[in-house]
Amino acid sequence: MQAVRWHGPGDVRLEEVELELPLGPGMIEAEVLHTGICGSDVSEFRAPFAIRPGRPHPLSGQQPPLTLGHEFSAVITAVGEGVDDVKPGDRVAADACWRCNRCEACVSGEYNLCLLGGSIGLSSDGAFAPLVRFPAYCAVPLPEGVSDEAGALLEPLAVGMHALDRGGARAGEELVVLGYGPIGACTALVARAIGLDPLVGELHPGRRARAEAEGFAIFEPVGEPLEVAREVRGLTGIGAHLVVDCTGSVAAMEGALEMTRRAGRIVIAGIPKKPIPVDGGRMVVYERSLIGILGYQNDLPRVAAMIASGSLEPEGMITRRAPLADTPAEIARLAEDPGDDVKVLIDVAS
Ligand SMILES: [Zn+2]
Ligand SMILES: [Zn+2]
Repeated sequence: MQAVRWHGPGDVRLEEVELELPLGPGMIEAEVLHTGICGSDVSEFRAPFAIRPGRPHPLSGQQPPLTLGHEFSAVITAVGEGVDDVKPGDRVAADACWRCNRCEACVSGEYNLCLLGGSIGLSSDGAFAPLVRFPAYCAVPLPEGVSDEAGALLEPLAVGMHALDRGGARAGEELVVLGYGPIGACTALVARAIGLDPLVGELHPGRRARAEAEGFAIFEPVGEPLEVAREVRGLTGIGAHLVVDCTGSVAAMEGALEMTRRAGRIVIAGIPKKPIPVDGGRMVVYERSLIGILGYQNDLPRVAAMIASGSLEPEGMITRRAPLADTPAEIARLAEDPGDDVKVLIDVAS
């Protein structure tokens, strides 16, 4: 079959492969419907961060070249020994976390922090391919009322849900979401579904227009971080209860730290590539909290239920669709300049 493989920085190819992972005990095989391109696929194209060249992953046993793709919907075609909670024909999405199920993090339910953890599509072959194999514990059945397309959005939406959970978001609070890329859009959409009315900051005019078209209040975070923060405090009355940064930008984070009211919370959902300057004294005096998040913990079924009930309609964030063969070019284009794209969805089954 044809699959989209990561060979190294700047080197993602469509090539003929065979399924490498065995369909052993606890594993499933599924036919892929749709797969989203994630910001991490794009950043791995630039430079490896999650992918470990030359080191077999301790749980999957795989190492590059690897098939990318961890945000997907699929139909199960076969199950390995001992798998009885899902069966062939089931429509599923995947909680992409490989986990050992034995370490302290796994035992306490924080499997996203597993000492040996990894991700489908970064630590094992993923879903930019017609067929994918992964652990059955990753499978999340799609309820009726969740389209195949929305199914491929569950994984990034779960990241937004986890960011809001860790930030202690409560209905009616003032929330600021920085960045309207895929994770910013997911965070804003989930926030609205749970009763918040986010204010979205985005520098790119095209993406800002997308956020506005989705019905969100917007602002342009241009200027010195402290000036931007002052503007946001004005827009939110006395400052936000919660700020979720989805940009990974140091300047955005510097502003974010000063956007909250007293006892405000700041969640880091983007990955800053450089240290962030933090004024500890001001954190103390304002009793602010700074919170990191990684992935999600059992959030996919919650998000699926929200979509099935109609409280969350995520399809509007899909701004472009393309066939599997175009995936390498799409990843390279997004790495160069995403333009006003939010989520690019690859139609794998055709
Ligand atoms: Zn992702
Ligand atoms: Zn573990």
